[in-house]
Amino acid sequence: MTSSGTQYALAGDIGGTNMRAALVDSSGRMTGRGSIDTLPERGIDDVSARLARLLESARKTAPTGAELVGVGISTAGPLRPETGTYDHPPNLTGWHGKTMKPSLSESLSLPVWIGHDATLAALAETRFGDHVGAENLIYVTISTGVGGGIIANSEMVTGASGGAGEVGHLPVRTGAYRCNVGCDGCFEGNASGPAIARIARERFTGAGPLSNLAGGDPAKITSRMVFDAADAGDPVAQGVVDLTHENVGIGLGALLNIFNPEALVIGGGVVQGLQRHWTRLQESVKAHSLPGYRNAIPLTATRLGDDVSLLGAAQLAFRQARRM
Ligand SMILES: [Zn+2]
Repeated sequence: MTSSGTQYALAGDIGGTNMRAALVDSSGRMTGRGSIDTLPERGIDDVSARLARLLESARKTAPTGAELVGVGISTAGPLRPETGTYDHPPNLTGWHGKTMKPSLSESLSLPVWIGHDATLAALAETRFGDHVGAENLIYVTISTGVGGGIIANSEMVTGASGGAGEVGHLPVRTGAYRCNVGCDGCFEGNASGPAIARIARERFTGAGPLSNLAGGDPAKITSRMVFDAADAGDPVAQGVVDLTHENVGIGLGALLNIFNPEALVIGGGVVQGLQRHWTRLQESVKAHSLPGYRNAIPLTATRLGDDVSLLGAAQLAFRQARRM
Protein backbone atom coordinates (compact mmCIF):
# COMPACT_ATOMS: atom_id res chain seq x y z
CA MET A 1 0.00 0.00 0.00
CA THR A 2 1.08 3.58 -0.55
CA SER A 3 1.41 5.75 2.52
CA SER A 4 -2.08 7.16 1.97
CA GLY A 5 -3.55 3.65 1.61
CA THR A 6 -5.09 4.56 -1.71
CA GLN A 7 -5.25 1.78 -4.27
CA TYR A 8 -5.81 2.13 -8.00
CA ALA A 9 -7.38 -0.02 -10.68
CA LEU A 10 -7.56 0.33 -14.42
CA ALA A 11 -11.15 0.10 -15.60
CA GLY A 12 -12.51 -0.62 -19.06
CA ASP A 13 -16.05 -0.74 -20.39
CA ILE A 14 -16.89 -2.47 -23.67
CA GLY A 15 -20.26 -1.75 -25.27
CA GLY A 16 -21.45 -2.61 -28.76
CA THR A 17 -20.80 0.98 -29.91
CA ASN A 18 -18.19 2.60 -27.64
CA MET A 19 -15.56 1.47 -25.24
CA ARG A 20 -14.09 3.53 -22.44
CA ALA A 21 -11.26 3.40 -19.99
CA ALA A 22 -10.09 5.26 -16.89
CA LEU A 23 -7.85 4.95 -13.87
CA VAL A 24 -10.01 4.68 -10.75
CA ASP A 25 -8.86 5.04 -7.17
CA SER A 26 -10.38 3.27 -4.19
CA SER A 27 -12.58 6.29 -3.47
CA GLY A 28 -14.02 6.18 -6.97
CA ARG A 29 -12.10 9.18 -8.34
CA MET A 30 -11.30 8.81 -12.04
CA THR A 31 -8.46 10.16 -14.12
CA GLY A 32 -7.25 9.55 -17.67
CA ARG A 33 -10.69 8.95 -19.10
CA GLY A 34 -10.76 7.96 -22.74
CA SER A 35 -13.35 6.68 -25.17
CA ILE A 36 -13.16 5.19 -28.67
CA ASP A 37 -15.47 3.32 -31.03
CA THR A 38 -15.61 -0.40 -30.27
CA LEU A 39 -15.86 -1.55 -33.91
CA PRO A 40 -16.57 -5.14 -32.80
CA GLU A 41 -16.63 -6.29 -36.43
CA ARG A 42 -12.85 -5.92 -36.57
CA GLY A 43 -12.64 -8.88 -34.23
CA ILE A 44 -11.82 -9.36 -30.58
CA ASP A 45 -8.01 -9.25 -31.02
CA ASP A 46 -8.12 -5.87 -32.71
CA VAL A 47 -10.49 -4.49 -30.07
CA SER A 48 -8.32 -5.92 -27.28
CA ALA A 49 -5.20 -4.24 -28.70
CA ARG A 50 -6.94 -0.86 -28.97
CA LEU A 51 -8.46 -1.18 -25.50
CA ALA A 52 -5.01 -2.01 -24.10
CA ARG A 53 -3.66 1.24 -25.56
CA LEU A 54 -6.57 3.19 -24.07
CA LEU A 55 -5.93 1.60 -20.67
CA GLU A 56 -2.21 2.26 -21.01
CA SER A 57 -2.79 5.98 -21.49
CA ALA A 58 -5.11 6.05 -18.45
CA ARG A 59 -2.39 4.30 -16.46
CA LYS A 60 -0.02 7.20 -17.11
CA THR A 61 -2.16 9.40 -14.87
CA ALA A 62 -1.31 7.30 -11.80
CA PRO A 63 0.84 9.04 -9.18
CA THR A 64 4.40 7.83 -8.82
CA GLY A 65 4.57 4.71 -6.68
CA ALA A 66 0.80 4.15 -6.83
CA GLU A 67 -0.41 0.67 -5.94
CA LEU A 68 -2.15 -0.61 -9.05
CA VAL A 69 -4.10 -3.79 -8.22
CA GLY A 70 -5.04 -4.80 -11.77
CA VAL A 71 -7.59 -4.32 -14.51
CA GLY A 72 -11.36 -4.68 -14.34
CA ILE A 73 -13.38 -4.91 -17.53
CA SER A 74 -17.13 -4.40 -17.78
CA THR A 75 -18.62 -5.75 -20.98
CA ALA A 76 -21.84 -6.50 -22.75
CA GLY A 77 -22.40 -10.24 -22.47
CA PRO A 78 -23.23 -12.93 -21.98
CA LEU A 79 -19.88 -14.33 -20.95
CA ARG A 80 -18.28 -16.69 -18.44
CA PRO A 81 -16.80 -14.51 -15.71
CA GLU A 82 -13.88 -16.79 -14.78
CA THR A 83 -12.42 -16.87 -18.27
CA GLY A 84 -14.08 -13.86 -19.91
CA THR A 85 -15.23 -16.14 -22.73
CA TYR A 86 -18.22 -14.79 -24.63
CA ASP A 87 -21.31 -16.91 -25.16
CA HIS A 88 -23.17 -15.79 -28.31
CA PRO A 89 -23.07 -12.05 -27.45
CA PRO A 90 -25.81 -10.34 -29.53
CA ASN A 91 -23.98 -6.99 -29.82
CA LEU A 92 -20.44 -8.33 -30.31
CA THR A 93 -20.92 -10.44 -33.40
CA GLY A 94 -18.23 -13.02 -34.08
CA TRP A 95 -16.89 -13.01 -30.52
CA HIS A 96 -18.55 -16.27 -29.43
CA GLY A 97 -16.14 -18.63 -27.70
CA LYS A 98 -13.40 -15.98 -27.52
CA THR A 99 -11.83 -14.00 -24.67
CA MET A 100 -9.47 -11.04 -24.44
CA LYS A 101 -8.39 -11.80 -20.89
CA PRO A 102 -4.97 -13.38 -21.70
CA SER A 103 -4.01 -10.82 -24.35
CA LEU A 104 -4.98 -7.84 -22.19
CA SER A 105 -3.14 -9.28 -19.21
CA GLU A 106 -0.03 -9.82 -21.30
CA SER A 107 -0.13 -6.36 -22.90
CA LEU A 108 -0.53 -4.58 -19.57
CA SER A 109 1.44 -7.01 -17.36
CA LEU A 110 -1.40 -6.92 -14.84
CA PRO A 111 -4.08 -9.35 -13.69
CA VAL A 112 -7.36 -8.86 -15.58
CA TRP A 113 -10.86 -9.62 -14.36
CA ILE A 114 -13.90 -9.45 -16.62
CA GLY A 115 -17.58 -9.19 -15.72
CA HIS A 116 -20.98 -8.63 -17.24
CA ASP A 117 -21.89 -4.94 -17.30
CA ALA A 118 -25.18 -5.21 -15.41
CA THR A 119 -23.65 -7.35 -12.67
CA LEU A 120 -20.80 -4.88 -12.31
CA ALA A 121 -23.27 -1.99 -12.16
CA ALA A 122 -24.81 -3.71 -9.14
CA LEU A 123 -21.34 -4.16 -7.67
CA ALA A 124 -20.59 -0.45 -8.22
CA GLU A 125 -23.71 0.49 -6.25
CA THR A 126 -22.50 -1.53 -3.24
CA ARG A 127 -19.23 0.40 -3.15
CA PHE A 128 -19.70 3.86 -4.70
CA GLY A 129 -23.45 4.46 -4.89
CA ASP A 130 -26.13 5.18 -2.32
CA HIS A 131 -25.96 1.71 -0.79
CA VAL A 132 -22.37 1.23 0.28
CA GLY A 133 -21.95 -2.09 2.05
CA ALA A 134 -25.27 -3.55 0.85
CA GLU A 135 -25.03 -7.34 0.84
CA ASN A 136 -28.13 -7.90 -1.28
CA LEU A 137 -28.68 -5.47 -4.11
CA ILE A 138 -30.31 -5.69 -7.51
CA TYR A 139 -29.58 -3.27 -10.31
CA VAL A 140 -32.07 -3.10 -13.17
CA THR A 141 -31.38 -1.10 -16.29
CA ILE A 142 -34.42 -0.12 -18.34
CA SER A 143 -33.38 1.39 -21.63
CA THR A 144 -33.09 -0.09 -25.16
CA GLY A 145 -33.29 -3.43 -23.40
CA VAL A 146 -33.96 -4.47 -19.83
CA GLY A 147 -31.10 -6.12 -17.96
CA GLY A 148 -30.13 -6.81 -14.42
CA GLY A 149 -27.30 -7.53 -12.04
CA ILE A 150 -27.73 -9.36 -8.78
CA ILE A 151 -25.63 -9.29 -5.62
CA ALA A 152 -26.93 -11.88 -3.14
CA ASN A 153 -25.30 -12.51 0.23
CA SER A 154 -22.39 -10.28 -0.92
CA GLU A 155 -21.65 -12.43 -3.98
CA MET A 156 -22.24 -11.66 -7.64
CA VAL A 157 -24.87 -14.05 -8.98
CA THR A 158 -23.50 -15.17 -12.34
CA GLY A 159 -25.14 -18.57 -12.81
CA ALA A 160 -23.83 -21.85 -14.19
CA SER A 161 -22.59 -20.37 -17.46
CA GLY A 162 -22.59 -16.63 -16.78
CA GLY A 163 -26.15 -16.10 -17.96
CA ALA A 164 -27.84 -15.11 -14.68
CA GLY A 165 -29.56 -11.77 -14.17
CA GLU A 166 -31.59 -11.67 -17.38
CA VAL A 167 -34.46 -9.97 -15.58
CA GLY A 168 -35.63 -8.48 -18.88
CA HIS A 169 -37.27 -11.77 -19.71
CA LEU A 170 -39.38 -12.06 -16.59
CA PRO A 171 -42.95 -12.47 -17.81
CA VAL A 172 -45.04 -9.45 -16.86
CA ARG A 173 -48.04 -9.73 -19.14
CA THR A 174 -48.83 -12.88 -21.09
CA GLY A 175 -50.56 -12.43 -24.40
CA ALA A 176 -49.02 -8.98 -24.84
CA TYR A 177 -45.85 -8.07 -26.72
CA ARG A 178 -42.85 -10.26 -27.50
CA CYS A 179 -39.22 -9.20 -27.17
CA ASN A 180 -36.55 -9.77 -29.84
CA VAL A 181 -35.82 -13.18 -28.35
CA GLY A 182 -39.48 -14.05 -28.80
CA CYS A 183 -40.71 -14.63 -25.26
CA ASP A 184 -44.31 -13.79 -24.67
CA GLY A 185 -45.06 -10.77 -22.52
CA CYS A 186 -41.66 -10.23 -20.91
CA PHE A 187 -40.44 -7.12 -19.06
CA GLU A 188 -38.22 -6.08 -21.99
CA GLY A 189 -40.91 -6.68 -24.60
CA ASN A 190 -43.37 -4.50 -22.67
CA ALA A 191 -41.41 -1.81 -20.81
CA SER A 192 -38.12 -1.14 -22.64
CA GLY A 193 -37.75 2.11 -24.58
CA PRO A 194 -38.56 0.49 -27.95
CA ALA A 195 -41.51 -1.37 -26.40
CA ILE A 196 -43.00 1.86 -25.04
CA ALA A 197 -42.61 3.51 -28.45
CA ARG A 198 -44.16 0.52 -30.18
CA ILE A 199 -47.21 0.46 -27.94
CA ALA A 200 -47.69 4.21 -28.49
CA ARG A 201 -47.36 3.75 -32.26
CA GLU A 202 -50.11 1.17 -32.27
CA ARG A 203 -52.41 3.51 -30.35
CA PHE A 204 -51.45 6.59 -32.38
CA THR A 205 -54.46 8.75 -33.30
CA GLY A 206 -52.69 11.39 -35.39
CA ALA A 207 -53.76 14.20 -33.04
CA GLY A 208 -52.66 15.80 -29.79
CA PRO A 209 -49.29 16.40 -28.13
CA LEU A 210 -47.80 13.03 -29.09
CA SER A 211 -48.57 13.64 -32.76
CA ASN A 212 -47.08 17.13 -32.51
CA LEU A 213 -43.86 15.84 -30.94
CA ALA A 214 -43.55 13.14 -33.60
CA GLY A 215 -44.29 15.60 -36.41
CA GLY A 216 -47.39 13.58 -37.28
CA ASP A 217 -45.31 10.51 -38.10
CA PRO A 218 -45.84 7.54 -35.76
CA ALA A 219 -42.57 5.99 -36.97
CA LYS A 220 -40.72 8.85 -35.26
CA ILE A 221 -42.20 8.20 -31.79
CA THR A 222 -39.63 7.56 -29.06
CA SER A 223 -40.25 6.56 -25.45
CA ARG A 224 -39.10 10.02 -24.36
CA MET A 225 -41.80 11.60 -26.55
CA VAL A 226 -44.37 9.35 -24.90
CA PHE A 227 -43.36 10.59 -21.43
CA ASP A 228 -43.30 14.21 -22.63
CA ALA A 229 -46.68 13.92 -24.33
CA ALA A 230 -48.21 12.32 -21.24
CA ASP A 231 -47.02 15.28 -19.15
CA ALA A 232 -48.57 17.60 -21.76
CA GLY A 233 -51.95 15.93 -21.23
CA ASP A 234 -52.04 13.52 -24.18
CA PRO A 235 -54.54 10.80 -23.20
CA VAL A 236 -53.00 8.10 -25.43
CA ALA A 237 -49.53 8.77 -24.07
CA GLN A 238 -50.88 8.83 -20.52
CA GLY A 239 -52.39 5.39 -21.10
CA VAL A 240 -49.06 4.06 -22.33
CA VAL A 241 -47.22 5.58 -19.35
CA ASP A 242 -49.78 4.03 -16.97
CA LEU A 243 -49.27 0.66 -18.61
CA THR A 244 -45.49 1.08 -18.39
CA HIS A 245 -45.64 1.88 -14.67
CA GLU A 246 -47.73 -1.24 -14.17
CA ASN A 247 -45.44 -3.47 -16.24
CA VAL A 248 -42.34 -2.17 -14.46
CA GLY A 249 -44.09 -2.61 -11.11
CA ILE A 250 -44.84 -6.26 -11.89
CA GLY A 251 -41.24 -6.95 -12.90
CA LEU A 252 -39.62 -5.13 -9.99
CA GLY A 253 -42.12 -6.54 -7.49
CA ALA A 254 -41.18 -10.08 -8.55
CA LEU A 255 -37.51 -9.30 -7.95
CA LEU A 256 -38.23 -7.96 -4.46
CA ASN A 257 -40.23 -11.06 -3.61
CA ILE A 258 -37.53 -13.46 -4.82
CA PHE A 259 -34.36 -11.77 -3.55
CA ASN A 260 -35.44 -9.57 -0.61
CA PRO A 261 -32.68 -7.04 -1.37
CA GLU A 262 -31.68 -4.13 0.83
CA ALA A 263 -31.71 -2.05 -2.31
CA LEU A 264 -33.35 -2.29 -5.72
CA VAL A 265 -31.63 0.29 -7.91
CA ILE A 266 -32.91 1.25 -11.34
CA GLY A 267 -31.11 3.11 -14.10
CA GLY A 268 -31.29 3.72 -17.85
CA GLY A 269 -33.04 6.11 -20.21
CA VAL A 270 -36.59 4.93 -19.48
CA VAL A 271 -36.01 5.48 -15.76
CA GLN A 272 -35.59 9.20 -16.42
CA GLY A 273 -39.18 9.17 -17.68
CA LEU A 274 -40.49 6.94 -14.90
CA GLN A 275 -38.81 9.09 -12.25
CA ARG A 276 -41.05 12.02 -13.09
CA HIS A 277 -43.83 10.18 -11.27
CA TRP A 278 -41.80 8.44 -8.62
CA THR A 279 -44.63 7.98 -6.13
CA ARG A 280 -46.75 6.31 -8.77
CA LEU A 281 -43.92 3.94 -9.62
CA GLN A 282 -43.43 3.09 -5.95
CA GLU A 283 -47.15 2.38 -5.56
CA SER A 284 -47.08 0.09 -8.59
CA VAL A 285 -44.11 -1.87 -7.23
CA LYS A 286 -45.79 -2.13 -3.83
CA ALA A 287 -49.02 -3.36 -5.43
CA HIS A 288 -47.08 -6.22 -7.04
CA SER A 289 -44.96 -7.14 -4.03
CA LEU A 290 -45.64 -9.28 -0.99
CA PRO A 291 -47.40 -7.63 1.98
CA GLY A 292 -44.08 -7.17 3.79
CA TYR A 293 -43.23 -4.42 1.30
CA ARG A 294 -46.48 -2.48 1.64
CA ASN A 295 -45.08 0.09 4.06
CA ALA A 296 -41.74 0.66 2.41
CA ILE A 297 -39.91 -0.61 -0.64
CA PRO A 298 -36.14 -0.30 -1.09
CA LEU A 299 -36.44 1.24 -4.56
CA THR A 300 -34.00 3.97 -5.67
CA ALA A 301 -32.75 5.42 -8.95
CA THR A 302 -29.01 5.28 -9.56
CA ARG A 303 -26.97 8.44 -9.13
CA LEU A 304 -23.81 7.00 -10.66
CA GLY A 305 -24.87 7.91 -14.20
CA ASP A 306 -22.66 6.90 -17.09
CA ASP A 307 -19.78 6.14 -14.75
CA VAL A 308 -21.49 3.10 -13.28
CA SER A 309 -19.79 0.62 -15.65
CA LEU A 310 -16.26 1.93 -15.08
CA LEU A 311 -16.82 2.09 -11.32
CA GLY A 312 -18.15 -1.47 -11.35
CA ALA A 313 -15.15 -2.65 -13.37
CA ALA A 314 -12.79 -0.98 -10.90
CA GLN A 315 -14.60 -2.48 -7.93
CA LEU A 316 -14.33 -5.93 -9.54
CA ALA A 317 -10.56 -5.45 -9.66
CA PHE A 318 -10.33 -4.18 -6.05
CA ARG A 319 -12.46 -7.06 -4.83
CA GLN A 320 -10.75 -9.85 -6.78
CA ALA A 321 -7.27 -8.54 -5.95
CA ARG A 322 -8.10 -8.85 -2.24
CA ARG A 323 -9.03 -12.48 -2.82
CA MET A 324 -5.85 -13.44 -4.65
ZN1 LIG B 1 -38.03 -11.59 -23.53
